[in-house]
Amino acid sequence: MLDIKQFEQLKNTSAKSFNDQKALIKKVMAGRQIKCETCGTTLRLIVPEDKSTPGVFCAKGCTNIHLDFS
Ligand SMILES: [Zn+2]
Repeated sequence: MLDIKQFEQLKNTSAKSFNDQKALIKKVMAGRQIKCETCGTTLRLIVPEDKSTPGVFCAKGCTNIHLDFS
């Protein structure tokens, strides 16, 4: 399974928003339909098996949270 502790910490991200991101990603990983706060499109979880950069992204790119599952 994916390990939520292995997030890559983003530069210039405050501890609070980092925690917000973790909470958000936990919901997406749990299969919840979460919408981007900025554009309102449904967030997509990319896992390493998809052979793309893993993370959580919205359709327009304003939500762009990279994960490090390695
Ligand atoms: Zn968006």
